[in-house]
Parts: sequence; structure tokens; C-alpha cells
Amino acid sequence: MARIVVIGAGVGGLAAAARLAVTGHEVTVFERADTVGGKLGRHVHDTPEGSYRFDTGPSLVTLPQVFHDLFEATGAKLDEYLDLVPLDPIVRHVFPDGGTLDSCADPAEFAARIGAAFGDRAAADWQRLWRRATRVWAASHRDVLRRAIDSPRDLAALAWRLGDLAAIAPGRSLRGLGRRHLSDPRLRMLLDRYATYTGADPRRAPAALVAVPYAELAYGGWYLRGGLGSLADALLSRCLDLGVVVQTGTAVTRIDAAGGRVHGVRLAGVAAPVPADVVVANVDALTLYRDLLPTPRRLAGLTDRSLAGFVLLLGVRGDSGLAHHTVFFPRDHDVEFDAVFGDPGRGIRARPALDPTVFVTVADDPTVRPDRHEAWFVLVNAARHGTAAGAVDWRRPGLAEAYADRILDVLAERGVDVRDRLVFREIRTPADLDATTSAPGGSIYGTAGGLLRPANRGPAAGLWLVGGSTHPGGGLPMVTLSAQIVADEIGPAW
Ligand SMILES: Cc1cc2nc3c(=O)[nH]c(=O)nc-3n(C[C@H](O)[C@H](O)[C@H](O)COP(=O)(O)OP(=O)(O)OC[C@H]3O[C@@H](n4cnc5c(N)ncnc54)[C@H](O)[C@@H]3O)c2cc1C
Repeated sequence: MARIVVIGAGVGGLAAAARLAVTGHEVTVFERADTVGGKLGRHVHDTPEGSYRFDTGPSLVTLPQVFHDLFEATGAKLDEYLDLVPLDPIVRHVFPDGGTLDSCADPAEFAARIGAAFGDRAAADWQRLWRRATRVWAASHRDVLRRAIDSPRDLAALAWRLGDLAAIAPGRSLRGLGRRHLSDPRLRMLLDRYATYTGADPRRAPAALVAVPYAELAYGGWYLRGGLGSLADALLSRCLDLGVVVQTGTAVTRIDAAGGRVHGVRLAGVAAPVPADVVVANVDALTLYRDLLPTPRRLAGLTDRSLAGFVLLLGVRGDSGLAHHTVFFPRDHDVEFDAVFGDPGRGIRARPALDPTVFVTVADDPTVRPDRHEAWFVLVNAARHGTAAGAVDWRRPGLAEAYADRILDVLAERGVDVRDRLVFREIRTPADLDATTSAPGGSIYGTAGGLLRPANRGPAAGLWLVGGSTHPGGGLPMVTLSAQIVADEIGPAW
């Protein structure tokens, strides 16, 4: 049995803690915030009409099998904890020309919907892209997503089949893949958007990210009744049942790692060190390498930070008739990407996009809003917080309020005007995400894009990384897989 300390109670930290506890280890989780869940955040806004319950982070569950596997592996059934609701449409896409397209988890039906909306050629294009995505998914699922990848050498040494390599097309961007396969600009836009699911710019993100829409559209998109935050409750409850000690309001300030192996951690305001044989860090990899090791280390070559998000939480009177998820696309995607990523090479500083893609989630769930009202979660791609050329200082006086006004105007321009139906609005900027979850600059996914991310194996013996900034990537299923990889590598206590 090893004494294991997990730093951070995000989904990756809790999933790792549960898996390690069930295999006989003594596990303690230290979480800096007062609640668990990390980016899977929640917020309640009370009004005289009743309470609005918001998810402030994820709104879509994909690859539900990953969560079934986690609960099964820790001796429980997911359905006893969570009520998974399949979504159709998964997302309603609204294009600048007013055309709409509803995605769904049935590939033949989705192709038929594309045909009906954009014509037979567009449907045939998509089917060709889908065949390719199927091959990329099979290869990455088999070789990348369920095992530790420690270095570029590991990635190169994978026994890629020739056909896999042709499909993955190393060197081609997701944008390039769209250009090659899709003649309709609206489908290209739809494909581009999936790069932002990993916080990346589609013009630079690898074509292999076509596995992202595959995962969503092959296995479906889901809501959790009561809000996605219920996943954090379920994971916490699993951990406590398995004897994990979870201490919130407790920041880890240092990892003791003299002689190249971990010995324990230091806690803020506590003089005595906490001994540990193994430390699993669920903090952002950048923070771990820069702030928590006795000597700061560089994350060589992995410095591109992912996108952040600008969020509005709206209480809205009446029934807007929106789908669960609606994406309103901008007139020019590239103008948006230039704004949110910046490009110092072309003299472009990052800034809030004036005509951004707007993602609106409105759950048809009476438990999250008062009668005859709606709780809207509005998400816009945003540059991370900071003062560098690729960042925006979201604390600049007046900026957040002015940008919130702009987003409501954009929605009105796109046919959904809620300005006179607002009960309240709250704003969450990238600076707020940084402050509440310690994600540097509010970058949602750590480093951006690519198959190669910071490794799960840390730079000292007994030190492991889980979570969205490490392999295999961000998003709820990927961080849950990272926990599985790490627990498997550490192995059982017996
Ligand atoms: C706006 C938004 C929308 C999203 N939408 C989706 C979606 O629809 N679907 C999806 O699958 N994913 C989505 N994601 C991504 C998803 O939320 C994350 O990938 C995932 O929750 C990250 O989990 P994690 O394990 O990396 O931990 P994190 O959530 O990053 O948690 C890390 C934890 O570590 C704690 N911590 C940090 N430093 C310390 C320290 N020194 N000591 C102790 N504790 C510390 C933090 O407080 C935090 O609780 C979204 C995220 C955001 C922000």
C-alpha cells in the first residue's frame, strides 16, 4: 500500500483518487478551493421567483462509456448516481446565412440532415470525411488515448499502420482537412469549431483532431439531469465511500522531491510536511513545473496555451424555444480566430472578438430554473487573461461589462434578442477562471492542440500528472482517461 497525495479535486483528481483507493492505496486529496469539481463548476443565483442553477463549465458529456467504466472499476453503477439524458439535436448550428443544421449521433441520419440543408454534394463530402474520421478515431483510441505517451519518441514509435498514418496526415491542419474534403463553407465552419474544443486554432491544429467530432457524433452528446455538476458530487461520493480523505480549502504549495523522488507535499499555512510515497498532480502542468517543484522546470516545446472562455450566466423570462445547445456562427471565422489567438508574427494582438461564435446552452430541466424562466449559459471563445501579446487583460476596468453588452447585441443581430427579458446577468471572464481553478490565464485546456501533451509521468519518481493539461487531453472523458492511465501505471497496492 502506498500513501498517495492527490493535488486538486478536479474530475481527473477525483477519478484517480477513486481508482487508486479501490486498489488498496491510502489516498488523500488536497483541494485549494472550498468545493470539488474544479472547472466543472456550479453557481446558484437566487431570485424571488426561485433559484437558477448554472453549470459554469462543461455543458456536454461525450463518450459516456468512459464514465460507466470508471464507476464499474470502482465497484458501482453510474446509473445509481447520474441521470444521463441523450440529446437530439446534440447541437443546433446556426450559420451566418440563416441556415441551420442539427447534429445527431446517427451518422446516416446526420448525413441525411446535411443533404436536406445543404444538398447532396455536401452530404457526400461529409460521408467521405466521416470514413476518414473513423480510421483516425480507431487508431488514436487504440494507440494514444488509453496509454501513457511520455515523449515524442513514444509517439513516433507507435506501431501506426500505414493506413492510420495516411488518415492522420501528420503535418496537415484540421483546416486543411476541411478544405480538402468539404466543398460547403458551412460544413468547413462546423469542422473548424471542433479545434476550439481542445482550445486550439483550426489553422494550426492537427488534422487528427477530426477524432473529436467523431467521438461526439458516433457516441452521442448527453446532459446530466440537475446539471453536469452532479458528476462532481457523484465522484466525491464514490471517493468518500472508498475511504479517500478529501480536504477542501487546502492549497499545496510545494512538492518535496529531493534526490529525484517524491517524499510528500507542503500545505499553505501548515509547517509540518505531509509525507507521501506517490503524488498525483491534478493542477495545470505549467503550474506544477513552474511553481510546485523545488526547482522550476521548463515544459520543453509545449508552451502554446489553449483558448479561454468568456461566459455569461443569464436569468431569462419566458420560453425562447432554443435547442439545448445552439451555436451561432460568425460571418468570418478567421477574423474571430485572429482576435482570440492573436498573431505577433503578423502584428496582431489578441483582443475580444467583435463578431464571435456564440454557444448558448438552455437546459429543458425544471430543476435548474424557476417556472416560466430559463437559465442560459452563454460561452464565447476568448483569449487567455494576461498582458502578453497573445492574451487580454480581462481585469481592465469596464471591459467585461462592455463585452457582455456586445455579446447580447450579437445574439440580437443573429435573431435571438433577450435584452428585454433579462432577470439578471452574471459574467465570468478568463481571469475569474484563473482565480477560481488556478488554470493559468484561464486557459481551459492547458497547452493547445496536438497529440503530444505534457506526459502523465512527472519529472521525479513517484510524481504523476492527471487532468486536462496533460495526456491525453482536455474535456471530461479525456481527463477521466488520464486518471485511468495513471492509476494503471501506479498499479494496485497488492
Ligand atoms: C467554460 C468551460 C466549458 C467547458 N465545456 C466542456 C464540455 O462541454 N464538455 C467537456 O467534456 N469539457 C468541457 N470543459 C472542459 C472540462 O471542464 C475540463 O477539461 C475538466 O473539467 C478539467 O478537469 P481536470 O481534471 O483537468 O481538473 P480541473 O478542473 O482543472 O481542476 C484542478 C483542481 O486543482 C485545484 N488546484 C489547483 N492548484 C492547487 C493547489 N496548489 N493545491 C490544491 N489544489 C489545487 C483547483 O482548485 C481545481 O479544483 C469546459 C471547461 C470550461 C471552463
